[in-house]
Amino acid sequence: MEYGVIVFLIVLLILALIIFNAKRKNRVKQEDFPEEWTRMLHEKVDFYAQLSTVEKLRFEKNITQFLKDVSITGIEVSITDLDKLYVASSAVIPLFGFPFWRYRNLNEVLLYKDTFNEEFATEEANRNVLGMVGSGAMNRMMILSKPALHQGFENKSNKSNVGIHEFVHLLDKADGETDGIPDVLLEKQYLIPWIKRMHTEIEDLKNENSDINPYGAKNEAEFLSVVSEYFFKQPELLEKKHPELFVILEKMYKQDLA
Ligand SMILES: [Zn+2]
Repeated sequence: MEYGVIVFLIVLLILALIIFNAKRKNRVKQEDFPEEWTRMLHEKVDFYAQLSTVEKLRFEKNITQFLKDVSITGIEVSITDLDKLYVASSAVIPLFGFPFWRYRNLNEVLLYKDTFNEEFATEEANRNVLGMVGSGAMNRMMILSKPALHQGFENKSNKSNVGIHEFVHLLDKADGETDGIPDVLLEKQYLIPWIKRMHTEIEDLKNENSDINPYGAKNEAEFLSVVSEYFFKQPELLEKKHPELFVILEKMYKQDLA
């Protein structure tokens, strides 16, 4: 009888330890990702707001991982938590269908207080660049205009998101060439259909017979980035206006946005 009591107490102790541990883990998880950040994502990032509870957790984990991998630096501008969330969300959204993929070709994102020209000076005449992926000495760097980054998430009615645009250039560049054909994303059987669809849509753009941002007609790389902004920001509209393009982008990004 005494033996039974001891076994009972031991079982009770083990149960208590398991419950204590689970609670502690839960606390660590919440400390990892501030509640304030969850609130901001809900309010500001539509893509996140539409995810399921499980997917939201994965999104938050991806944000945390990205911010460990990549530093964000302000050039004559201070960096807020919202800036960090916008940059990280721009990175996480295009890769959300690839749970194990990380940006290995990026160390730092610079945020400028305004637009900049291609020599990276903000005060010169040609003040029209909103974002770019660095090359040469600026390799492994991305530059974004802070106001443009915000506009991408806060202007809900247009099809633009400069953060997503630049991260898609990085994905495109990961195979060695920024050519509008992201070999790392695209399964082989979709390669030819993608190239054909892209050229048809670029023709329509050049003939001013399209609602896609005309900048996408500049070349294949810009086309990919521009339609990806559209895809992630206004998926329903893209599906309605360009059903074939929509379907192949869903395959490319492995995301069901319909
Ligand atoms: Zn571009």
